[in-house]
Amino acid sequence: MPDPHKVVIIGGGFGGLTAAQTLKNAPLQVTLVDRHNYHLFQPLLYQVATGSLSPANVAGPLRQVLRKQKNTQVLLGEATHIDAANRRVILSDGALDYDTLIVATGAKHQYFGHDEWEQFAPGLKNLDDATAMRGRILLAFEAAERERDAKKLRAWMTFVIVGAGPTGAELAGALGEIAHDTLRHDFRAIDPSQTRIILVEGTDRALPSYPPVLSEAARRMLVRLGVTVRTGAMVTDVRADGVTIRVGDHDEIIPTRTVLWAAGVLASPLGVILSQEAGAKLDRACRVIVEPDMSIAGHAEIFVIGDLSNFSHQTGQPLPGVAQPAIQQGHYVAKLVRARLRGQKLPPFHYFDKGNLATIGRGAAVADLNWLRLSGWPAWLIWVFVHLLYIVQFQNRLLVMLQWGWLYLTFDRSARLITGKKHLPLDL
Ligand SMILES: Cc1cc2nc3c(=O)[nH]c(=O)nc-3n(C[C@H](O)[C@H](O)[C@H](O)COP(=O)(O)OP(=O)(O)OC[C@H]3O[C@@H](n4cnc5c(N)ncnc54)[C@H](O)[C@@H]3O)c2cc1C
Repeated sequence: MPDPHKVVIIGGGFGGLTAAQTLKNAPLQVTLVDRHNYHLFQPLLYQVATGSLSPANVAGPLRQVLRKQKNTQVLLGEATHIDAANRRVILSDGALDYDTLIVATGAKHQYFGHDEWEQFAPGLKNLDDATAMRGRILLAFEAAERERDAKKLRAWMTFVIVGAGPTGAELAGALGEIAHDTLRHDFRAIDPSQTRIILVEGTDRALPSYPPVLSEAARRMLVRLGVTVRTGAMVTDVRADGVTIRVGDHDEIIPTRTVLWAAGVLASPLGVILSQEAGAKLDRACRVIVEPDMSIAGHAEIFVIGDLSNFSHQTGQPLPGVAQPAIQQGHYVAKLVRARLRGQKLPPFHYFDKGNLATIGRGAAVADLNWLRLSGWPAWLIWVFVHLLYIVQFQNRLLVMLQWGWLYLTFDRSARLITGKKHLPLDL
């Protein structure tokens, strides 16, 4: 009997995991390799960073998620290179041969050529980032409680969030709740409600990818939570003790000890490797420009999906870097692989846009469902429902629901633990 067709999937995020699951029971051998042993529900990561959920609430071991799928092996490993000529994925500690390769390694935030800012302004991409960010936020309040110098105290109690997209707005809203509600009774020397939360955005409005009416609704909700929204402000420097922003033609320094980064998109380095090794074309964010069937030109056996891909065939613009395109593309390429095995073809990939949701705090969100635009309570209920629906693959859906219910009634954020202090800026 000939060897089964070998499908290697790099990345067990929304795209890669959906592809693997759609290949269930197919007569082929699937290997899913990820550098983490978990699938992460990134839309709820900010809740770990702000102490309302624990890491295990928003992630599930890939091995467990795929345990019943007999044709699939999960490997913990980091892909460092792709040898397209010999159909091999090179790992930091080995190699994998493939007949079909699905690359779904995603993208992360970027510092616009200033990687040195990262040490002062951490971003949010994985569980380590979220627990480190949680530590920084909580440590700032701890330091403030012990600070006697008024200027230094103000810097500890000033939080700057860079980027007012959904992640930045969600972080700012959650910080507003922490300052005004959660920590209200916890300190003796400081009044947490005096915390300054400044959300800095380069364009002219918060949530710039949403319709203007929802951006305005989001701005009002943020202001209600004590957040100052600074639009038209570009960050030009980040240091341990402050941020410089340029507004119009003048610079302004904001003294702060806590800067959180939620701006920019930089595709996984495997995009550049595919361009060198397989001639893939890249866009400015180093995303791979894909063919209508998500493969790369000249390599029908290599697919690139999710945040790492630039699919512009439908509207002339790349699809947004959110979970739905990644999920739908994962589903599509798996169906295409199955069809090819049967000697069949599929029509090109077509994205079905279900709309976008962002939450700004307790009972406050915006929803752009294309045919309906909502803000406030109704949008928040949809947000809760959708997030619980999509986290369905984890047994902890019930736990998340209970935790949210508790948080809603009590403002309690009992996951506000400082761990891994060696990465934090203060040695208390
Ligand atoms: C903080 C945050 C909040 C978000 N909120 C929302 C939201 O509310 N709604 C929404 O729709 N979208 C949201 N997104 C975007 C959404 O999460 C992404 O669009 C989606 O995860 C993209 O899926 P993907 O499969 O392309 O990549 P990812 O889900 O990022 O998965 C990539 C996987 O590849 C692995 N990997 C990377 N490099 C390697 C390597 N070299 N070797 C092995 N494994 C590797 C990673 O460990 C990861 O598991 C958010 C993103 C972030 C960061």
